[in-house]
Amino acid sequence: MGELVVANVSIDNGQEKIAFIGLGNMGAPMALNLINAGYQVCGYDVISANLDALRNAGGKAATSISTAVKNADIIVTMLPAGKHVRSVLTGREGVFSSAKTDALIIDSSTIDVTTARDMADMAKNNGLGMIDAPVSGGIMGAEAGTLTFMCGGEDKAFKRAKPLLEAMGANIIHAGGAGNGQAAKVCNNMLLGISMIGVSEAFNLADALGLDRQKLFDISSTASGQCWSLNTYCPVPGPVPTSPANNDYQPGFSVAMMLKDLKLAQNAAQSTQANTPLGELATDLYEAFDKAGNAGVDFSGIIKFLREQKV
Ligand code: NAD
Repeated sequence: MGELVVANVSIDNGQEKIAFIGLGNMGAPMALNLINAGYQVCGYDVISANLDALRNAGGKAATSISTAVKNADIIVTMLPAGKHVRSVLTGREGVFSSAKTDALIIDSSTIDVTTARDMADMAKNNGLGMIDAPVSGGIMGAEAGTLTFMCGGEDKAFKRAKPLLEAMGANIIHAGGAGNGQAAKVCNNMLLGISMIGVSEAFNLADALGLDRQKLFDISSTASGQCWSLNTYCPVPGPVPTSPANNDYQPGFSVAMMLKDLKLAQNAAQSTQANTPLGELATDLYEAFDKAGNAGVDFSGIIKFLREQKV
């Protein structure tokens, strides 16, 4: 309850005012959860339909970044990639030049670690607090308010962000200094891409050997082969009714999104000379699957590609 309106008298009860930039598939439900938690949310997106949706949900729609952020205590960004975050923060009339001096920036986009650290440095030079706080949990997690936030930044900024993140997520983890939230995100998603390919190969081999898929699931999901890609997001129809395999591989988490994250991981591995041969192979396989016209398919659909393409 940021502002109570009683008989046309507006009383600010002290809760922080939020600017939310980027009201797409993830940002819109996240902003809605903030509104439902009682925050005043003023949003901006380059797509006017997204602003209409925010207005209809009880938020304020701004006509520019600078109008959205000028009175905000906390500014959340949920944008496609690093170049969008850089432009929204550093552009003319962007966040750095328009925000109040004591404002805190929370970037929840998934972006490269280098840009995240650059932005944190620049925020500090502008007298602003900043954390990187990418999420896991997808659109369903954003809608349900059960996202996991992986956060990087100073303790003070993290503590200030935490109550707000709790209105949008179930697990809020401080992973260390600036950029460490993004580091956790790329490591996790590289592991996810690799493990989905591994689980898919195991089911394809089981088919070839005449082993029933349900039997493999019953055994491996309780044995040493268990992992999230098998137990929760099984890539064959049947064993896990909620997995996209039962819905013709509708996302879920699209191949395009997985490929984006695998490429971020590979760029990070190259720049730090970390050895990630399976991460590199997973990137190549998802790139081939994407190029074959499957960008919008759920990432678990790679099982069919591996079966049919004999890559
Ligand atoms: P999206 O494309 O649906 O939303 C991004 C929004 O940013 C769009 O509405 C776009 O118009 C807006 N935008 C772009 N440039 C802008 C600018 N200069 N000013 C204002 N608005 C601008 O993407 P999404 O699915 O919401 O994902 C957002 C981020 O979250 C991405 O970094 C993605 O990798 C990450 N993510 C997505 C998922 C998922 O399942 N969709 C899961 C985890 C993380």
